[in-house]
Amino acid sequence: MNPFLLTIALTAAAPLPEGQDPSRTPRLAVIIAVDGLGWGRLEQYRPWFTAGFKRLLDEGQVETACRYRHLNTETGPGHSSLSTGAPPRVSGIVANRWFEQAADGSIRTVQAAFPYAPGVPGSSQSTVVAGPGNLRVPTLGDVLVAAHAESRVVSVSGKDRSAILLAGRDRRHSVFWYELDTGAFVTSRAYEPNPAARAVVERYNREERLPVRYGFKWEKMEVAPETGPIPSSARPVPALDLLDFQVPANGLAFPHDYRLNPGGYFGALYASPAVDELVADLAVALLEDRSLALGRGSVPDVLTLSFSAQDVVSHYYGAESEENLDVLRRLDVQLGRVLSAIEQASPHAVVALSADHGFASNPDAERVRNPAFKGARLVYGPRTFPNFVDRLNRLLDSDLCLDPRSAPVYASEGWNLIYNRPALPLHTVEGPCGPAGSAVGREALDEALARVVTRFFPDEIERVLPVAQWKTWPAGETATEFARNDLDLERSGDAFLVPRMFVQMTPDPGRGSGHGTHHEYDVHVPLILWGGPFRAARSETARTPYDVAPTLASFLGVSLPEAVGEVVPAGQP
Ligand SMILES: [Zn+2]
Repeated sequence: MNPFLLTIALTAAAPLPEGQDPSRTPRLAVIIAVDGLGWGRLEQYRPWFTAGFKRLLDEGQVETACRYRHLNTETGPGHSSLSTGAPPRVSGIVANRWFEQAADGSIRTVQAAFPYAPGVPGSSQSTVVAGPGNLRVPTLGDVLVAAHAESRVVSVSGKDRSAILLAGRDRRHSVFWYELDTGAFVTSRAYEPNPAARAVVERYNREERLPVRYGFKWEKMEVAPETGPIPSSARPVPALDLLDFQVPANGLAFPHDYRLNPGGYFGALYASPAVDELVADLAVALLEDRSLALGRGSVPDVLTLSFSAQDVVSHYYGAESEENLDVLRRLDVQLGRVLSAIEQASPHAVVALSADHGFASNPDAERVRNPAFKGARLVYGPRTFPNFVDRLNRLLDSDLCLDPRSAPVYASEGWNLIYNRPALPLHTVEGPCGPAGSAVGREALDEALARVVTRFFPDEIERVLPVAQWKTWPAGETATEFARNDLDLERSGDAFLVPRMFVQMTPDPGRGSGHGTHHEYDVHVPLILWGGPFRAARSETARTPYDVAPTLASFLGVSLPEAVGEVVPAGQP
């Protein structure tokens, strides 16, 4: 520990928490997101962990009742919540992608982190236009650099939107993510990274030889001697019970073969634990870099990391799979390295680990195990037929006596629909509704949608919440509160669908798994506060992931006026 660091006075933009010794003020705040990790799974697999997860669970303040309170529990909204301290109705990131009506009346597709040129194909082109422009409020990193021009914000992830939305809007942030086409870490024109951080990443890209390092096989990790006996409750679903329901991204069963991935070699590593190891390598290199000196300056810095493999692998192989356990065991090792590097760089650093959402288990496999299981898939995606929007359109055409070629619903994302607004009003054809030519506008569509959903999708969808009627949505119900927390009148389209338990929107009619609902498995995530003033403790107080940014902000002496989360006090029993 360098005593010099402890004597530097801190210029704080907001008062420090009561009793906080300025000489022990964290010089580094770290957000670690594990993409798609539900609290239940982290706890279930605890006997397997020997390194980073074990340290966090043993030494940190573990908040066991941390739940999101918004619908569309997806990556973009979740990461924005962690960085801004607010749900999507405030952050504006209502889903990974949404549909907006442009000034000329047409509908444009907006990706959460691709505001500048929506629809640009190919990741190499997209990376230069990806950016944080859709965020409506500042992040922890944004308010920090606004308070202290010398503060640095560094963000690394396997996914563009995770790195971007955790960091925030300020151009000075150093934001890097793994590029699927090249296996290199890249940034975008939206940022001008710190030269020292950029040099670390460029050196890394130049020297890393991924095919030499990883070869073609993903083998299951050996069980370490220090791992004690594993109770049966902590074991994954056996591979044989899942094979029929897995997407063979890297083939089926261990050892997985990267040559089988249709996304190419670097796409294969993205669907494996390798991508997490690369993020950890880069995090350690950035923390150790002497000219960057992260967490060692006279003002605090922020480091945000998001580990993507657990989400990608769970989508393909199931969150309950041996593949997913292997990802988490390997991430445990990587987190151990990252925590050590944080301690070396900045002795009073404070770390918050959480997730952007949880995960559902595979509904088809679940049904094999338990015949009484109720769960279902609604299939979406342009390459899948018949998809949910196509089915809905045919049923709406029939219900409203529209031409069977008309498509009153334009698209869906998450649990939102947008109508084909440029085509409204549609007109009826002659038939049971009477003579042709009656106008069908938004109100008629709202009513028909509710009728069709009630009649044809009663097992999948509990109710429809039309956006135009948001002021009269029933109060005091969980589902409406969760939809309200995702409501942005420009971005939420025309209707929320409230999904029943274990129902998924999925691109595959019978394989893989997902997330996105307001149910327990998607909203209950870890929240562990470690380092700085936090000591080993376990609390069952109700928390939300919106608490992460305000809590870290309080220790850095800055505030987030638009955050709705609360400061989690240190030292709660
Ligand atoms: Zn995610």
